[in-house]
Amino acid sequence: MRGILFVMSGPSGAGKTTIVKAVMSELEGIEFSVSYTTRPKREDEVDGVDYFFVDEKTFKSLIKKGEFLEWAEVHGHLYGTSMNFVESRLNDGINMLLDVDVKGALNIKKIFKDDVFIFVAPPSFKELKDRLIKRHTEDPNNFEKRIEDAKFELSQISKFDYLIVNRDISTAVKQIESIIISEQLRVSRLAEFVGKYNFYKSKDGADL
Ligand code: 5GP
Repeated sequence: MRGILFVMSGPSGAGKTTIVKAVMSELEGIEFSVSYTTRPKREDEVDGVDYFFVDEKTFKSLIKKGEFLEWAEVHGHLYGTSMNFVESRLNDGINMLLDVDVKGALNIKKIFKDDVFIFVAPPSFKELKDRLIKRHTEDPNNFEKRIEDAKFELSQISKFDYLIVNRDISTAVKQIESIIISEQLRVSRLAEFVGKYNFYKSKDGADL
């Protein structure tokens, strides 16, 4: 069975990174897809774990080589998802979790229609601003850009399958984990198992 692609998206400051870290440490059978970015590394980040940090020249050569499943400019920097990595893991039956911006998620949805798209929203716009201010990681120009981008991103919620309102992290993590577990239990994804109990099929395969 092919693995399931879980695409998590939502505005910067909604808490996606914290959620991803908790899910990855608690749930088995799912891997995080590490993206490429031209954004400078933050102090607490590790190259190859949080992102593959590359310069713009390298990123553009990766675009030319067709390395990306999708890529986008987000808040003034380039971010991209590795096609080879995600597809080979899915083909090996491994579930994958992606954390991408909304434009990226909607581009992926055009290709992977049957996969799972989860939107993580802050409880209010004021809360989102406060969280971004507290982060202290962004310069003032980038902060304004993130706020403007968030308005567009929040207007796209209806295009997603699930909505998590991140009021507190532990509830949000539980909710995402239940989505990941439930999606694996869909009968349509368990055709091999269901087929074993097909005692009443006629010779031509039709239901009796
Ligand atoms: P940050 O710089 O705060 O880590 O991430 C900024 C935004 O870029 C977040 O919304 C995150 O979801 C998004 N992002 C991270 N990786 C990718 C990617 O590979 N593709 C796209 N389109 N967005 C990404």
